[in-house]
Amino acid sequence: MDAQLQTLIDLQALDTKIAVLEAEQGRLPGQIEAVQAAIAQGRAAVQTLKGKLDTAKKDTRSKEKDLDVCQVKRQKSEARLYEVKTNKEYSAVLIEIEEIKQEKAKIEEEILSLMETQEQLAVEIRDAEAALKTREALGQQEETQIRQRLAAVDAELTGLRGERESVARDVPRDLLADYAKLLRGRGGLAVAPVGPDGICGGCRMTLTPQRLQEVKHQSALLNCESCGRFLYWLP
Ligand SMILES: [Zn+2]
Repeated sequence: MDAQLQTLIDLQALDTKIAVLEAEQGRLPGQIEAVQAAIAQGRAAVQTLKGKLDTAKKDTRSKEKDLDVCQVKRQKSEARLYEVKTNKEYSAVLIEIEEIKQEKAKIEEEILSLMETQEQLAVEIRDAEAALKTREALGQQEETQIRQRLAAVDAELTGLRGERESVARDVPRDLLADYAKLLRGRGGLAVAPVGPDGICGGCRMTLTPQRLQEVKHQSALLNCESCGRFLYWLP
């Protein structure tokens, strides 16, 4: 095989590996962000529940004050029972007292309901905090793994780029420029194999019989007549 072609094949193998690793290098920070976002979401869920609990507590205190107001109103009304002069006034105060009783009962019911809400929220907060703790521990493990993988990818890329540089040194400048142009323009594949089916491994077009024969003998660098990629025979 043509020595330059073999060098291009080696270069392509390295560039393919580099492209795969670069893609992974690009994805990994997003994975770390996703892990962190999941933890932040768990934290926000706990905060939301705590906010609801605070509101329920505040509402309860406000209802308890209403209850005190009711109590004072009732005492006043009851005192008036001794001051009224007529039966009609007496009946009116009794009605007033009855209304205050009903109001008190209603407020007490609301307080009870708020207490239940508080209990329910306390349970939900405990559960959400436990879930958050698990998520944080798991997230830390995942993040460590991703960061380790990222470091490994960085190291591997440094090695491959060095290797690529030394291989590329053997390629004439013009040829290297053609190769680089193809690599950019043809989805990262500048050198394509041709098998016994006579199809270009890059663009899947069938080679002319003559070109196929030339590729088989490979006495010079040949390009696909359709996509322009360098071709090599891979039986
Ligand atoms: Zn082609």
